[in-house]
Amino acid sequence: MSNPVNCYVEVIVPLSLEGSFTYAVPEEFRDLIKVGIRVEVEFGKSKRYSALVKKIVDATSWKQIKNIIDVLDNQAIVTDKQFALWDWMTEYYLCSLGEIMQAALPASYKLSSETIVLPEIIDLTNLDLTDDEYLILEALEVRKSLSIQDIQTFLQKKSVLKIVKSLMERKLLIIIENLQAQNDIPKVKWIKLHPELQKNQEKFHQALTLVQKNENQTHLLLHYLKEKKDYSWIRQNELLHKSSSNSSVLKSLLKKSIFAIQELEKYIYPDSNFAQPIFELSEIQKTAIEQIKTEWTNKDVCLLKGITGSGKTHIYIQLIKETIAQGKQVLYLLPEIALTTQLVIRLKQYFGDDLLEYHSGISNKNRLAIWNACLNHHSLIMGARSSIFLPFKELGLIIIDEEHDQSYKQIDPAPRYNARDAALILAQDHNAKVILGSATPSLESYYNAINNKYGLIKIDSRYGESQLPEIQVIPLKEAAKFNRIKGHFSIDLLEEIQEQLNLKKQVIIFRNRRGYSPVLRCNNCNWEAVCEQCDIHLTIHKESLHLKCHICGIKKPIPSKCPQCEQNSLKMLGFGTEKIEEELTELFPDFKIQRFDLDAARTKTSQSQILEEFEDGSIQILVGTQMLTKGLDFERVALVGVLQADQILLYPDFRAQERAFQLLTQVSGRSGRREELGKVIIQAYNTNHPVLQDVMQHNFDQFFERELSERERFKYPPFVRIIKIEIRHRKEMVAQHAIEYLTMKLKKTLGKRILGPADSNISRIKGYYSKEIFIKLERNSIIIRKAKILIKQLCQEIKNQEGWSSLRIIIDVDPY
Ligand code: ADP
Ligand code: ZN
Ligand code: ZN
Repeated sequence: MSNPVNCYVEVIVPLSLEGSFTYAVPEEFRDLIKVGIRVEVEFGKSKRYSALVKKIVDATSWKQIKNIIDVLDNQAIVTDKQFALWDWMTEYYLCSLGEIMQAALPASYKLSSETIVLPEIIDLTNLDLTDDEYLILEALEVRKSLSIQDIQTFLQKKSVLKIVKSLMERKLLIIIENLQAQNDIPKVKWIKLHPELQKNQEKFHQALTLVQKNENQTHLLLHYLKEKKDYSWIRQNELLHKSSSNSSVLKSLLKKSIFAIQELEKYIYPDSNFAQPIFELSEIQKTAIEQIKTEWTNKDVCLLKGITGSGKTHIYIQLIKETIAQGKQVLYLLPEIALTTQLVIRLKQYFGDDLLEYHSGISNKNRLAIWNACLNHHSLIMGARSSIFLPFKELGLIIIDEEHDQSYKQIDPAPRYNARDAALILAQDHNAKVILGSATPSLESYYNAINNKYGLIKIDSRYGESQLPEIQVIPLKEAAKFNRIKGHFSIDLLEEIQEQLNLKKQVIIFRNRRGYSPVLRCNNCNWEAVCEQCDIHLTIHKESLHLKCHICGIKKPIPSKCPQCEQNSLKMLGFGTEKIEEELTELFPDFKIQRFDLDAARTKTSQSQILEEFEDGSIQILVGTQMLTKGLDFERVALVGVLQADQILLYPDFRAQERAFQLLTQVSGRSGRREELGKVIIQAYNTNHPVLQDVMQHNFDQFFERELSERERFKYPPFVRIIKIEIRHRKEMVAQHAIEYLTMKLKKTLGKRILGPADSNISRIKGYYSKEIFIKLERNSIIIRKAKILIKQLCQEIKNQEGWSSLRIIIDVDPY
């Protein structure tokens, strides 16, 4: 098929601009042009971009039309099905194709004048290079990093993207984004009985006599033999911890060639450990799978509501196996990368190299590789929300694990999409089946399920002998009255912690606030440490010794006296995870206590490091934020403590109750996941709060009924659709005028559906004043479509008005 003689292309540029842009295709490129490939174009003032061809046309109404400069790909890197999803997203979320392109493509595909490149190998001898290529690499030796604009300048060529692309493909260049994730892949040490001893009985007995004299060495060896009857590999940390041994003992055994050791990258497992474990599904699991399949005959989506620890993962594993056997691809979505580590380890046992993970912690290089693997029909991808953008060929199944989780929603920047909802559209385009899984489904999904839009499958018991934990609520007011409080812990909780630690069990303490203390105030003059850019308090971080704004990230030293009245009267109010860690360290000096929050576990590497140490038992108490509430499966956690549950219940938005129920149920679900009954202790002032009662009784239905009727009464989702519009500007009056104007205009058509305007929850963000309105639309597709068109139009109109072009307008459909 050849392209028309008059050939034009509509392309998407990776910028936050509306619509696509038309360029002419000169004759020389005409036969190379295809939909889905990249071309180099000039956009704006001599800036170069790799733009994506969305459409080929033979006529255009545009007068002054530029030519494309070069063709960058032979084959489409974006498929028709992806474009279909993108089109749906622009319409539904009121965002631009350029914004989606930015979010969807791996960095290496988004070359532009601003892109920064770094050298990958430095040795230039023996490379077959063109002059230009040589010059670039040589320059990189000196400058270490270059922007593509720099390259344009010193090559004195405008068109350099193709050269850069070719160097990248030959692994001579890399793109800078996400460099950190590239470098520090964690390593794990593995130990096993030396293969010589395994083969040779006589040597084995010699070895035993060799260590006999040394009690510690004998102990360690016997422990290993007991633990690994098949002489397979065990993690070094796990072995040392379980045998209460130390590394010098291990060293001696290695020296005597009684043990063998190897160090492997994380996620890579010793061969002998790789034998696919055989598992047998329980009757309950088998029934659930049958029910799912029955539902799938007339519905594409099933909600699997199984309590924490009910064995949902093995149900997924079975369905994934069957889908792969049919030659189709599977996407396994997870809300957070913190979760992938453990699940990847679990699933790798079954799927080996068939399983690829995709999320922000994966290096650019690997992302590109996964993108291409997907195009080539790779079978199983596990990833965070952005993996809905991968170029699947033929999806058979999408699993959306922890479907209720709010991190499926991208809040900033645009596209502000919910990956759970977009995944349903993706599944439709592929004719794929979907499982939404959760112990605490979102109100929206459960509502759809009971209204027969989705199939509903319930599992109400845990797998095996395990039971749901016993939940106890401690009234803080009374505890204080009877002097049964130490720091932020009730004596009951402390006694329980001690007891579990004595039994060699582990403890999780939950506090949903990071830092040491959230407010620094002067007792004398009432001065408070607030951010100069944002309308919030600065949080005290004692470990790194500074005050920090959790919105804009600004850091300041902690003042020693009040900056206003200069008295030594500063006081820290409230408490965060750091403070709790400090208290626990004092209370339980003989145990290892570790924090798990955004500060302590910034990268995926440090996250998995901590989880690994918790898993192998070297950490006994884990203190953390919601990062640790989700999906994690630890064998020895016997107690979960929640400090001040009240704060979780007091968020100022309509999802507060739902979120609190989910959070408390999920964090409780980490306790007692094996034979022995686990325990949960929740400390609260308002112990009568209905959500606490629901959580305590493990009563989802009671919670759901009450919450649903509230939502109906006050008109909230799932009964209406919400669109939030935020207008930001450095000058408060400008933002105020603009939002008032927008409200007035919208009200003409939409009337009472408009709520506001009002200051945003945080009324100033990074120096910008923020005003917002909410639009509540009944669930009527015609009204919703009309409203969306109107909103887009008006927002554009506002931006075009004099003095208002510098407004930031943020449209958020289905906000969280
Ligand atoms: P959920 O995801 O529903 O909270 P999990 O899938 O983590 O629960 O299951 C809880 C525990 O039970 C896990 O440790 C898991 O390995 C184990 N388990 C579940 N089903 C099986 C099975 N069929 N065979 C062996 N172990 C299982
Ligand atoms: Zn003061
Ligand atoms: Zn700030």
